[in-house]
Formats: sequence, structure tokens, C-alpha cells
Amino acid sequence: MNNYDIAIIGSGVAGAFAALRLSEKHPDQKVILFDIGKIFFKRRRFLEGFLGCFPNGDGKLYTNNIDSVSELTGIKKAKSSYNYVSSYLSQVNNMKLIKDTLPQSAFQKKVKELNFDIKTNDHYQWKPDSIHALTKIISEKLENWNNMTFSFDNEVYKIIKKRGQFLISSESGDVSAKKVILCVGRSGWRWATELYKDLGITVEDDYARIGIRCELSGSNAKELNKTHCTLIRDDLELGPFNWNGTVIPEDHADMVISTFRSNEERWKSEKVSFSLISPKLYKGQGVAQSERLAKLTFLLFNDRVTKERVKMVMKNESQLSILPEFNWLPKTLELVESFMPNIISKGYFHIPEISPIPAKIDVSKELETEVEGLFVAGECAGVRGILSAAVMGCIAADNASK
Ligand SMILES: Cc1cc2nc3c(=O)[nH]c(=O)nc-3n(C[C@H](O)[C@H](O)[C@H](O)COP(=O)(O)OP(=O)(O)OC[C@H]3O[C@@H](n4cnc5c(N)ncnc54)[C@H](O)[C@@H]3O)c2cc1C
Repeated sequence: MNNYDIAIIGSGVAGAFAALRLSEKHPDQKVILFDIGKIFFKRRRFLEGFLGCFPNGDGKLYTNNIDSVSELTGIKKAKSSYNYVSSYLSQVNNMKLIKDTLPQSAFQKKVKELNFDIKTNDHYQWKPDSIHALTKIISEKLENWNNMTFSFDNEVYKIIKKRGQFLISSESGDVSAKKVILCVGRSGWRWATELYKDLGITVEDDYARIGIRCELSGSNAKELNKTHCTLIRDDLELGPFNWNGTVIPEDHADMVISTFRSNEERWKSEKVSFSLISPKLYKGQGVAQSERLAKLTFLLFNDRVTKERVKMVMKNESQLSILPEFNWLPKTLELVESFMPNIISKGYFHIPEISPIPAKIDVSKELETEVEGLFVAGECAGVRGILSAAVMGCIAADNASK
């Protein structure tokens, strides 16, 4: 069996940056990098392969991501890793910060009266060509590093710890490693949850974040003032408001969830799109119930993401009306109508949107789990976002190589 110092499982955003950091700062480590998807430039499916969902997402690098990382690891580590990540990003993107605006004051007043907090989202916008250029830079570094083994097109399905070593089973056989950095992110959320349960480290798996993706002509949402903000209340999340292009729903039958992207220039339109998500409590069953609901809605809508007029659901004429889990929707849309007039008469929505995240685990400031030597980064650590995944990948790499 091949033995490694560090195995990185998942070469999405977190995994790619973990590998890059190891190649530069800890080149003596013997490393293997796994991914279900194809190797660089040969992507097979949207959420899998080198850099994970970055090449197919909305390409917005939200700067408030860094705060989420700071909360976990402390400001110092988060800042210095962010500087490192930025030094790569700025080689291929001008990194012009898009400062977010607030909605018009009348709108702000209305939503605040309804107990929503408004979170603005400053960001950098990325387009496919700069993601391609970044892929080139990182992949060349990794290919020129003798201590790196690539294991793409290969699914890891089991990790156990035995006598201080991790045994990693994948479609192409078993390997062992002293340390593991788990970065299976967006498409690996269910497997990560199973793994955490097997390892006995789950702290909480109580919520399914389910909802819809709304789309409305910008002329019907002038009060938003082209903000990219998110409106947050205990039971609801609206946003971020996205003004680049129209919604492109993608069925991910293997994951049984739908995802949406909207930053493609060729679909540029005057529309605004946003997610409307409501977390539902299912004690100890959040991930399983998310999957059940996604499957059910897929079946109800003939195995695909469906676009519907909002008024269908208001009139109880939507297939969705028969699912008790979506009972909150008509009332919520009435509430949204009170500050976004026209959503009911002019809006469209796409069903379902399941906002996946693995079960919660305890993670140290070093991004190490309760299993010694098992590190997590990106969505595996419960933190969403491209920038946070990149920064956490670097931090996990530094700590795993100690
Ligand atoms: C459509 C879409 C749009 C988005 N838009 C934005 C945005 O604009 N801004 C933003 O900040 N965030 C956005 N996100 C979220 C962001 O992309 C993720 O939070 C981020 O990519 C997470 O990084 P990660 O490294 O944790 O996981 P990922 O980037 O998802 O990478 C995980 C990798 O692990 C691999 N993998 C999974 N399971 C296994 C296994 N068992 N064995 C081997 N490999 C495995 C996958 O193939 C994948 O390459 C978007 C997500 C989607 C889906």
C-alpha cells in the first residue's frame, strides 16, 4: 500500500489551495490529491473536478467570507492566508472591489420593521477566463512538484483511522496517510455527514435548508437599488441579490439537488435573482431530510428543476402545494410582496433549491477535528464561499504539515 504524509480528499477550491500551499511552503511532504472529477481543464460535471464549483458558480468572491474564517481560526491566520491567496488571485484578475450598496431607505425601513437584518456583500467578480488562467497557474505548480500524486476520476468512499494512520479506500484501491485534509465540499456534503457520524464527531445535524430561487425583472425591483445584500431573519434568508444574467438552473440528479448560476455574460439581462431559503428543523436528520425533499420535488416535477410563475403557488396550483414542508411558501411570498411589490404577479421561481451543508462538527483553531490528524476546510468545516474555502485550505495545509 502507498503511504503518504498528507492525503487531500477533494480538489475543489479548498483542496486546490491546500495543495498549492503545501507545494510552496512544505515541499518535503509527500502528498496525494483525490477528486471524483476529471483533472485540470477536463471537467466532466459541474460541481466536480479541479477548483470544484468555482468555474461554474456565480464567481463572486465575497470579502465577508474572511470574517467567517477569522471567527474559526483567529484573525491573524485568516489575514495572512488571505494575503497569500490574494497574491495568486491578483495575478489573473484585477481584483477591483465592488462595494455593495444598500437598498433605498424606504425599502430598508420596511424590511427592518419585519425584523430582517440587512447584510451587504462587497465582492470581486470573476469570469470564466480568469478562472481558467488561475487553473493554469496552480496546475503548473502542482505538476512540477515531485512529491505530488494526482488521483483524479476517483471517488474516495471510506476513511478509517487505525494505529495512528488513516486508511483511505477509493475506487482505485487503498492508500494510507498520516494526516488527512477533507475538502469534499458542495458535492460531498452527504458523504461527509456519514463519515462524521461513523467517526462519532457529529455535533448537530438538525436543519434542512430548503426553498426556491426567485427571478424578477429589475424594473420591478427598483427599490433594491441594485444591492447584492442578503436579508436575514431567524426563519428566512433572501439573497444575495444577483444582477448578472438570468438564472440557469442545473439538475444534479446524482446529488438530487438543484443549483443555479447566473454570471454568464451571454445571458446578461436586466433581471434580479435570489434564493429564498427557510431552514426546517429535523432533529438529527437535517441532511437525510434535505435529500428526501429534493428527491420528492424532483419526482413531482418530472425529474427536473422547474420554472413556475409565483402565482401558481399562491393559487395552490403548484405541485409543490401538496408538500407540507413548503406550506410556509405562500405566506412568505405575501410577506415578500409587501416590500417587493410585483413578485407575486411578475415573478418566476425555480424549484427546488436545497442549500446543502454537511452536519456540524467541532473544529479547532487549527481546523483539526476531534479525530487527531483529520483536518477540514471549506464547506466540510461548515463554511460556505469560494474565498473562505481557499483561505481555509491554506490554513489546514500549514497545520497538517506540522
Ligand atoms: C452554482 C453555484 C454558485 C455558487 N456561487 C458562489 C459565489 O458566487 N460566491 C461564493 O463565494 N460561493 C459560491 N458558491 C459556493 C462555493 O462554490 C462553495 O462554497 C465553494 O466552492 C466550497 O469550496 P470547497 O472546496 O469546500 O468545495 P468544492 O469547491 O465543492 O470542492 C469539493 C471537491 O471535492 C470533490 N469530491 C467530493 N466528494 C468526493 C469524494 N468522495 N472523493 C473525491 N473527491 C470528492 C468534488 O469533486 C469537488 O471537486 C456557489 C456554489 C454553487 C454550486
